[in-house]
Amino acid sequence: MFKKILIANRGEIACRIIRTARRLGVATVAVYSDADRRALHVELADEAYRIGPAEAARSYLDIQAILAACKASGAEAVHPGYGFLSENPAFVETVEAAGLVFIGPSATAIRAMGLKDAAKALMEGAGVPVVPGYHGEEQDGTFLTRQAEAIGYPVLIKARAGGGGKGMRKVERPRDFAAALASAARESEASFGDGRVLVEKYMAKPRHIEVQVFGDNHGNVVHLFERDCSAQRRHQKVIEEAPAPGMSAEMRAAMGAAAVRAAQAIGYSGAGTVEFIADVSEGLRADRFFFMEMNTRLQVEHPVTEAITGLDLVEWQLRVAAGEPLPKRQEDLAIDGWAFEARIYAENPARDFLPATGRLVRFDTPEGVRVDSGVRAGDEITAFYDPMIAKVIAHGPDRTAALGRLAAALAQCRIAGVTTNTGFLGRLCREPHFAAADVDTGLIGREAAALLPNPPAGPRVLALAAIAALDLLEPAIDPDPWSRLIGFRLWGQGWQVVFVEHEGETLEFRVAPSDRRRFEVESGGKRLGLTILRSEGEGTVLADFGDRVVEAVVVRDGRAITLFAEGASHLFHTEETAGLHGEEEAGGDVVAAPMPGLVRLVAVAAGAAVTKGDPLVTMEAMKMELVLTAPRDGVVEAVPVAPGDQVSEGAVLLRLAAEEPEQAGLGN
Ligand code: ADP
Repeated sequence: MFKKILIANRGEIACRIIRTARRLGVATVAVYSDADRRALHVELADEAYRIGPAEAARSYLDIQAILAACKASGAEAVHPGYGFLSENPAFVETVEAAGLVFIGPSATAIRAMGLKDAAKALMEGAGVPVVPGYHGEEQDGTFLTRQAEAIGYPVLIKARAGGGGKGMRKVERPRDFAAALASAARESEASFGDGRVLVEKYMAKPRHIEVQVFGDNHGNVVHLFERDCSAQRRHQKVIEEAPAPGMSAEMRAAMGAAAVRAAQAIGYSGAGTVEFIADVSEGLRADRFFFMEMNTRLQVEHPVTEAITGLDLVEWQLRVAAGEPLPKRQEDLAIDGWAFEARIYAENPARDFLPATGRLVRFDTPEGVRVDSGVRAGDEITAFYDPMIAKVIAHGPDRTAALGRLAAALAQCRIAGVTTNTGFLGRLCREPHFAAADVDTGLIGREAAALLPNPPAGPRVLALAAIAALDLLEPAIDPDPWSRLIGFRLWGQGWQVVFVEHEGETLEFRVAPSDRRRFEVESGGKRLGLTILRSEGEGTVLADFGDRVVEAVVVRDGRAITLFAEGASHLFHTEETAGLHGEEEAGGDVVAAPMPGLVRLVAVAAGAAVTKGDPLVTMEAMKMELVLTAPRDGVVEAVPVAPGDQVSEGAVLLRLAAEEPEQAGLGN
């Protein structure tokens, strides 16, 4: 076994690798960018080396900087995690040329699977079923149109160099093919520097089922069963589970064997995942699954496999890289129970999953389940890296029990300061089709109306928010919350009015504190009485509404109030800022970034006269291009950003000169 390894990654996966290494007595070296100086992975590792500025391209993707850290620290091996350099064959070669061990497959194996078309051709040769379609060299439009007709509509155009759902277009009808082809080619050229595509049959009811494989340097390959990642939004995984629901022993054996053949075909060593797409329009059938691609690294969702096998996949990776044979043979491996993983992201599902940034004012994680995270309360979620905050992994004896545990755990995740998808994940757990394991990749899209919007708070939560907005609930400040209220001057003075913004609306409340702990709250002609039974540190409040006792956690951060109650979280803003944090409000005189991202194009300069609706700034954020337009007619006063700038949410991109009376110019 190695004495010291370097982890060329950050966030939860770096922390997760460090934990296993520590257990095995292997010293760890972290690398960090300027944005991560105080990050958890830096704190957990035995040593930490700076590798550059915040931008990933100049730090976590800088091969030479990472190599320098290897040399300085004396690490013997490099674990790449996932993302960043994990599937970069040039990195593997550089690491090996320096006499170090790359904890992963060979550069040759990575190259063989790097392009979807070549991988498919290779798999066909190895007798692994592939999605029917054209994955050859010919890229002529007319030729591809004929191929699409031969395959039969609907078809899917995919970038051969693709990843993350980019450069992918579903085409329903022949007459839309040419336009879709052009746009897929453009997007993949822009994203991957390679505009070539393949065309394949679009599955009517697809499920994403992948098989975890492991190889060693002695010719052994096993599979660690399958994971179902069909719960997807725009081709990105949301909740993964293992095993896959509805798998017969026959189908599991067929898929496992195909995955092992795929790995053997490229002499695979280390952890890998063979992704299949299954057409389940007639149920799961052993003759209806097809190879999609192979990921030559550890996957984000590997913990569900660990949960059902009781194994530590990072330990296996280290052992294999150190030259040991696989710790177990196929016949020694078995499935125990069921596991789910939910990915908590800083994003807003109700706004088309816009990524969010901000400081984690509060980050309470649930008990009794596994939580993998690279951040802690107080940390900043920046626009520089992936906005994943944590993975919650729940295990149970069967699917229903495991899903119940996941839902309960998500309800206990209290995250304030950053918008997250936690509520959406909880709703997905309870969605009837998902709960009944009737899932395909289109499920979230079909049920979007019920799943995406955060339901508005109920009357009890609203009443608590109104009281919190008046600062009548500030338990964290004083261990004896009632002492400061005793001198409160407004007692007995009747109603206090407060305005609270919630889900885009401004709500008016009238609150009457009738004694030290009893309140009457009125809004929209409805009145509610409540008694605060208990109010303690960390914002926990127990309120008696007469017919029900509600426990709530109230987190205040400036004007923002996050209230966790009745299994959901709700965000409120007190009056002073109501109207200061949506995009419309930025409208008057400034154009602000609606999300973190990269400034691509600035169409005007200071002094330019613009007309309402004129395109001013183009931003790129995650998978979207956004054109921001002039909110009114006017003159550009300043453009504080330039193309190439990375901006955070709310950053001012452009300011219009204040509107002046007609004759104002006369004095100049
Ligand atoms: P990427 O590498 O960009 O993530 P993949 O080839 O892995 O692309 O496909 C991503 C997702 O797209 C799959 O999980 C599945 O939901 C969907 N998909 C891919 N191929 C097909 C297909 N032939 N028919 C229907 N859906 C597909």
